[in-house]
Amino acid sequence: MYLYNSATHKKEEFKTHTPGHVEMYTCGPTVYHFAHIGNLRSYIMEDVLEKYLRFAGYDVNRVMNITDVGHLTSDADEGEDKMLKGAKREHKTVMEIAQFYTDAFFDDCRKLNIKRPDIVQPATGLIDDYIHIVSTLIEKGYAYLAGGNVYFDTSKISRYYIFNDHNEEDLAVGVREGVEEDTNKKNKNDFVLWFTKSKFEDQALKWDSPWGVGYPGWHIECSGISMKYNGEYLDLHCGGVDNAFPHHTNEIAQSESYLGHTWCPHWCHVAHLNTEGGKMSKSKGEFLTVSLLEQKGYDPLAYRFFCLQSHYRKSLVFTWENLDNAVLAYNKLIAKIANLKDEGVVDETVRAEYRAKFMKEMDNDLNTAMAVTALYDVLKAGTNDASKLAVIADFDTVLSLSLLEKAAAKRKENAGTAAVQTAGGYTITGEGDPAVDALVMARYEAKKAKNFAEADRIRDELKAQGIEIVDARDGAVWKRV
Ligand code: AMP
Ligand code: ZN
Repeated sequence: MYLYNSATHKKEEFKTHTPGHVEMYTCGPTVYHFAHIGNLRSYIMEDVLEKYLRFAGYDVNRVMNITDVGHLTSDADEGEDKMLKGAKREHKTVMEIAQFYTDAFFDDCRKLNIKRPDIVQPATGLIDDYIHIVSTLIEKGYAYLAGGNVYFDTSKISRYYIFNDHNEEDLAVGVREGVEEDTNKKNKNDFVLWFTKSKFEDQALKWDSPWGVGYPGWHIECSGISMKYNGEYLDLHCGGVDNAFPHHTNEIAQSESYLGHTWCPHWCHVAHLNTEGGKMSKSKGEFLTVSLLEQKGYDPLAYRFFCLQSHYRKSLVFTWENLDNAVLAYNKLIAKIANLKDEGVVDETVRAEYRAKFMKEMDNDLNTAMAVTALYDVLKAGTNDASKLAVIADFDTVLSLSLLEKAAAKRKENAGTAAVQTAGGYTITGEGDPAVDALVMARYEAKKAKNFAEADRIRDELKAQGIEIVDARDGAVWKRV
């Protein structure tokens, strides 16, 4: 499989430390509010990646954190603690907020067919591990105490910027402009490993540590959680593109300094979902959540389909119109699958051929858009319906669009409305569209009243809609041609 690696800036053959096994880590949500559908784009694409690795034969151990402490409003250790902000907003405790939004997050995931990672670890559960890592970093000379906080010393490592080529001067202006300088820092990109002091005194959750009562910085949780559950050698680390700097950059700095060897060779970043106005936000404009989609009558899986239609490395603009187009395409696909009959014997050669086509697209940097297109090719294939259904089921173990379940429901719905028995014994057999049934019925009534001009007019109207009627004994059969 070829997967783009943000650490080397190129598409690379994906290799693992232990053949056939993937240790995978993905940054989890900060549970101070609902996830917006932008956050969920990242989780959908990571879910597809995990499922595809399994499909390709890997055994995967996927670990994810839940950020319930230490993430400040700015990723660069400034501002308020996000969890505290959420607790104040809702007049609840930080732990109540964390529990509520963790549950809400997994509820959204369930609706989007996102599998739960093998291990999910709230950051507050591994404090001793972070303390151990921070102590080791101090011992090894990579961290220092200043003003009560412990900082990582970025000047001690030979290469700090992994994901971007910008120089330190440019970055300094971009990050620091208008922001109060933390005078404790020796270098501008030094970051906090452990907080005890200053504006963070109203922090609700605090733990004892060798440096005083305090709490961990945001970055250390991902290193600590990953090293505990993925081991010393991580194969694949994922997150949204905004996590690349400073969060992932800092994770690498502290993990490799602690371990004394390379930590994770492959980094995968999902591009953002934006609104027409720019970056998606929880505070500005419409707060786009899965619940909002549902309230507006959208199937959350149509949103998943919308995400899969684009490549994960391209930023995507969300508009209701774009979502409506995805809904149309998704429903059309389901309607086509619903028309397949479970007949014939599965042709394993055809199945293998399509599996190879699917893998060719996915092996090319997870090209889900082309994999979705391959679904349409399956529908057009010159094979029996049972084989087509088997291929679709195979694809859907990765795409997770519930295609067969939705098609079965559609078939049931069609069966429920397809045959309409009138009082006079006239039967209309169609494709389950009440509006068409009504026109066919009106045509029958016109014929009965000897109004042949009207009957012909209705037939023409249906024909213009691509519908053909065949009169049968005591009824009519219609179909879209
Ligand atoms: P957070 O809950 O803020 O820690 O973010 C959770 C995940 O969503 C992280 O992997 C972010 O990189 C990712 N993310 C944040 N905003 C967006 C967006 N607009 N589109 C896609 N992913 C995002
Ligand atoms: Zn992380």
